[in-house]
Amino acid sequence: MRRGEFLTAAASAALARRLARAQPSMPTPSLRVLLGRGDARGTAGGGFQFGGHSYRGGFTQTPNGDVINLVALDEYLYSVVPQEMPSSWPAMALQLQAICSRTFVLRRLDPGKPYDILPSTADQVYEGTATETPAGRAAVDATSGLVLAYSGQYAKVEYSSCCGGHTESSADAWGGEPIPYLMGVVCPYCTLSPDYRWASSIPFAVIERATAPRLRGARLESVRLAARDSSGRARSFTLVTSRGSVSIAANDLRRALGPRYMRSGLIFSLDAAQDIARLQGGGSGHGVGLCQWGARGIALLSGSLAGAANFYFPGTQIAPWTSVSSQLTTTSSRRS
Ligand SMILES: [Zn+2]
Repeated sequence: MRRGEFLTAAASAALARRLARAQPSMPTPSLRVLLGRGDARGTAGGGFQFGGHSYRGGFTQTPNGDVINLVALDEYLYSVVPQEMPSSWPAMALQLQAICSRTFVLRRLDPGKPYDILPSTADQVYEGTATETPAGRAAVDATSGLVLAYSGQYAKVEYSSCCGGHTESSADAWGGEPIPYLMGVVCPYCTLSPDYRWASSIPFAVIERATAPRLRGARLESVRLAARDSSGRARSFTLVTSRGSVSIAANDLRRALGPRYMRSGLIFSLDAAQDIARLQGGGSGHGVGLCQWGARGIALLSGSLAGAANFYFPGTQIAPWTSVSSQLTTTSSRRS
């Protein structure tokens, strides 16, 4: 299902108004999470059940059967923060995660759209109350209302598990204009991650299967790292085949092979021999923005929350969401 195909903008705005009336004393904004099709049932004491999970807040059902969870932002974050970062980690790291996840959502609130966010890795993983933890709730409460701002706007917040020693520039990872606070920094704090350094052996047959549409039946004879970007991550590879060479973007090859074979694009060496490609790499995930293992490392060194935020997002500030001029201000005035 494509986003936005089942609820008109007018119906969506009405939904947002109903939500605002239903929870008039809410200290933070609320959001609409598209849970999917199925039956939702209210439970005694508030909340509801859907798809085997219990959720806070209320729900509405669209004419085609999609269930949308209407939930206060912080109650949503109670579920999200422990999914995105282990609750056993230091409080400061969890608080930074809460601020990042809150900012990530607030940039997306838009009453002109049928819903604000998806409950999966496409946005942030959200599975209701079962995933909440005391440490996660404490991190959300301790940072309630705080976001990451840049020049008076919500920062574009990205995060991933371990950068391997250098975070990635957003422009190198996904294209687009360079973003001043997402240019990539040298990160010495994530060395305790089990993925800080990794090795992988990939049989040529696996690469052939993963890249079959490009190889069109040609046999893979070798693979080479063709170019690197500013953080040292692979930009492209050359697949040498029985019918000539084929270039493939590193992101495309990583997606095709999956994390089992390529945990990140940070490849230190690649040796191809005897029908096997042997990789030495570092880090896990796209590497843009917050390095979560790095935040943990800074917390263990007694670093400050603001210091860690400014290290991974240079030039940004932690600020109350009410001080940030953005689409949300418009949302609030429309709801009143
Ligand atoms: Zn790092």
